[in-house]
Amino acid sequence: MTAPVVAVVGGGQLARMMAPPATALGLHLRVLVEDPTSSAAQVVVDAPVGAASDEVAIERLVVGADALTFEHEHVPNALLDRLEAAGTSVQPRAAALVHAQDKIVMRTRLTELGIPCPRWVPLTAPADLDAFLAGGSAVVKTSRGGYDGKGVRVVRSSDEVSDWFSAVADSTGVPLLAEEKVPFTRELAVLVARSPSGEVRTWPVVESVQRDGVCAEVIAPAPDLDAVTREQAVDVATRIAKGLGVTGVLAVELFEVPGLDGSPTVLVNELAMRPHNSGHWTIDGAVTSQFEQHLRAVLDLPLGDTTPTATWTVMANVLGSALADPAEALASLDPTVKVHLYGKEVRAGRKLGHVNVSGDDLADVRARAVAAAAILRGEPV
Ligand code: ADP
Repeated sequence: MTAPVVAVVGGGQLARMMAPPATALGLHLRVLVEDPTSSAAQVVVDAPVGAASDEVAIERLVVGADALTFEHEHVPNALLDRLEAAGTSVQPRAAALVHAQDKIVMRTRLTELGIPCPRWVPLTAPADLDAFLAGGSAVVKTSRGGYDGKGVRVVRSSDEVSDWFSAVADSTGVPLLAEEKVPFTRELAVLVARSPSGEVRTWPVVESVQRDGVCAEVIAPAPDLDAVTREQAVDVATRIAKGLGVTGVLAVELFEVPGLDGSPTVLVNELAMRPHNSGHWTIDGAVTSQFEQHLRAVLDLPLGDTTPTATWTVMANVLGSALADPAEALASLDPTVKVHLYGKEVRAGRKLGHVNVSGDDLADVRARAVAAAAILRGEPV
């Protein structure tokens, strides 16, 4: 019997982290990488080189593949529609993926589904924004192409995004939207996996700690989360997965905000339809990792158990302008720390790896994770 083939567009760390479970499940992973030295190309044998926008390369990638999936959202949808029509199993389908590509499409659909979101409007002219601002502040976002806080600006006047409005006017930019600046107490995330035949599994709700617009730590499960908010978060994520017809892993980023009666509630910030930074803890902290689950889901195999294997797991990103020599770092690292490095070139602010630490005492687990990430960045112990 030949191994099922999963084709993945994008050769970064997410595709790289699909390799161990693909090996374990006896699957053949084929990854379209941007460069022969890309993170995934270092560990995946079948790694053709091509850009995510290269239609010919993607057409070649899917020959003999049982499923096509993605590690990022920047893929041409018209091509995905064509591939689907020609019989390729595209997971998630273009009709679902568009909600992770375009924030206006996403907000429109979630609003239709009655999913709680920040108040928002699409912007066609600076006057729309000034009316929405009504003398206060708001968050302006580019509808497409943003990541790690790029494409997000908090403004008090439309003048502060005049460059973005000009770019839209001369067709070099993408449409904009404005959202109310929500007074969130923290950011939460729910990871859910759904298979084409409709099986759905969620992992516990986590807290994601952001620094300078980038995820620094993830705490699983989210500490002191009341049961009502937890159920609301899981319900929202499950309704989105089903309502949008998502297949594979879906990450729903949430704001926890005080509700009208003072008790907490959640609003949806963003969606990602792929394994996500908020789920890296599952590699060492859950029976089935998000990477294994994504592979199972896109092939429509039964989904794995998502139960946590420890009371607490904390993930800390190794964000870098420097990386210690791994052998030297291991010498000073706590041996219970699970290290995941991505083989990426060091660049300021880049995600170079992460660590996972599990245990029963959250303060201790968190301190050990943060210390381990610092050691891997080459900071003095
Ligand atoms: P990106 O697509 O670049 O990740 P996000 O939409 O997730 O952008 O926004 C980045 C960060 O900006 C969020 O993590 C949050 O801290 C802040 N932010 C985004 N939207 C809002 C909002 N409506 N109200 C308050 N803060 C927001």
